[in-house]
Amino acid sequence: VGCGICVKKCPFEALDIVTLPEELEFPTHRYGQNGFALYGMAIPLEGKVTGILGPNGIGKSTAVSILSGQIIPNLGDFETDPSWDAVLKHYAGTELFDYIKMISSGSLKASIKPQYIDFIPKVFKGKVIDLLKSTDERGKLGHYVQKLKLESILDRDIGKLSGGEIQRIALAACLSRNADFYFLDEITPYLDIYQRMTAAELIQELSVEKPVLIVEHDLAILDMLAENVHIAYGKPSVFGILTRPKGVRVGINQYLEGFLQEENVRFRDYSVNFETYSHNREVKRETLMTFPALKKNYDGKFELTIRGGEIRCGEVLGLVGPNGIGKSTFAKILAGLEEPDEGKMESAVKISYKPQYIKTDSTDSVEFMLRQATNKFDSNYYKHEILEPLSLEPILQSSVSQLSGGELQRVAIALCLSKEADLYILDEPSAHLDVEQRMVLSRVIKRHAESSGSGVLVIDHDIYVIDMISERLFVFDGEPGISGKALGPMDMREGMNHFLKELGVTFRRDKTGRPRINKPGSYLDREQRSAGDYYYAE
Ligand code: ADP
Ligand code: ADP
Ligand code: MG
Repeated sequence: VGCGICVKKCPFEALDIVTLPEELEFPTHRYGQNGFALYGMAIPLEGKVTGILGPNGIGKSTAVSILSGQIIPNLGDFETDPSWDAVLKHYAGTELFDYIKMISSGSLKASIKPQYIDFIPKVFKGKVIDLLKSTDERGKLGHYVQKLKLESILDRDIGKLSGGEIQRIALAACLSRNADFYFLDEITPYLDIYQRMTAAELIQELSVEKPVLIVEHDLAILDMLAENVHIAYGKPSVFGILTRPKGVRVGINQYLEGFLQEENVRFRDYSVNFETYSHNREVKRETLMTFPALKKNYDGKFELTIRGGEIRCGEVLGLVGPNGIGKSTFAKILAGLEEPDEGKMESAVKISYKPQYIKTDSTDSVEFMLRQATNKFDSNYYKHEILEPLSLEPILQSSVSQLSGGELQRVAIALCLSKEADLYILDEPSAHLDVEQRMVLSRVIKRHAESSGSGVLVIDHDIYVIDMISERLFVFDGEPGISGKALGPMDMREGMNHFLKELGVTFRRDKTGRPRINKPGSYLDREQRSAGDYYYAE
């Protein structure tokens, strides 16, 4: 039975192993005897943003350590000390030669924004402005501060910032440096869609002057930002292969399909599809709960206004809007964790809620926690619908306090879905997940809604995730931190039109049904804008 996301074969039966193309007999780098091996290489190009697209643990950072001169690649021979001379010889006559020559002479300067930014407050003490000033090598800092809306936090202590603030500071710092090559390992974590678009715009601006390489798991942003992509595939933590660059449209489509045409390699045995018709599907659904018009005011500083509505059995509802607009507050009101000031939630529906920020210092094992949440742990259903797709089996015995961000997210999603409830609320489930895990997440959530007959509300900033799973949409707008207004649920077309108009972008669909952001001012953009059709023209 298809859920619409995969058409060919169930991902849970996907093969672990891919065949290695012959021309990739020798790795670019191998970490020791049984260590991870990277094949192929990414190529930074003048005047362009190049993306790397693939799951975590596949060698993306390793490639960047080589490109920034931190690792001399050993070309698979981990027993001899590597030398740049050997590497130069290896790459003679290729497009990487000039670049490697620059690294080997020690004259290359790379500016890097790391994937994990949580360490920044630990190594840098002091005010935001002092950190940023020390990176202002191109005289562009003022521009970045204004665009990324950092003015109001310049005097703040670095130790007292939110994830979204640290991310924007890290972006500004990386772009402000004067370097020969820029690398940004994920730009979107903690950012809302507005901030993601701004970050993309600033990176594109810089790429006119200098080569920029990015890793990004939000495909709508990657699609808009990069000109070419290298697809990274293989077996995480065992070996990874970087393809030659592909045009971004083709590259993303091949990635979703799981088949690399030029290489003639199928690296995944199911394909991910966007299903345009699901949004208009006339499904008869019973009402699960209704909520009245509600108001919530925090200390006279922030006010949220909610229009009444209903949630139906078995549907997945998307919820979109900028940061600080009241999305989590709404979720907490529905979950009964916050009392509204006006209006009253009277339904007695049972809610299971995954908060946006997951904190835990519990030393319990993952398995212990899951068993406490469900009595189905040993069932086939649980194994196939939860444990396998969310890749939890390898970490069942780990202590929850020691998990990485992505692992903890997957455990939190599993915990939320394990409980018996009428309505499941997931606040930002895509955060910290790689692109492969986001596809699986969408599938798990849809199937859960369908099989449980409950409702699922998903708050997220990844438009592809929202587009893939939602049947209807809540849209929040207003002034972040001051007032928020909740509209919906609306059907996808009405909701997305509302949201995209606010965002100022239009979307089209390509031949595969994948939504793509139109270039501002392009023919389609102007056409759709004047027709008021921001979402997509069929
Ligand atoms: P990605 O950036 O795609 O997540 P990485 O390049 O960070 O992947 O890592 C790929 C694999 O190489 C991982 O399994 C990682 O554990 C391993 N690895 C990374 N750095 C080293 C190292 N210095 N020594 C040994 N193994 C490493
Ligand atoms: P979102 O989920 O859309 O990012 P939130 O619902 O978390 O937004 O927050 C909306 C606004 O309400 C923010 O300005 C936030 O600072 C404020 N806020 C949230 N929770 C509280 C609280 N418990 N007390 C006071 N203000 C709060
Ligand atoms: Mg929130």
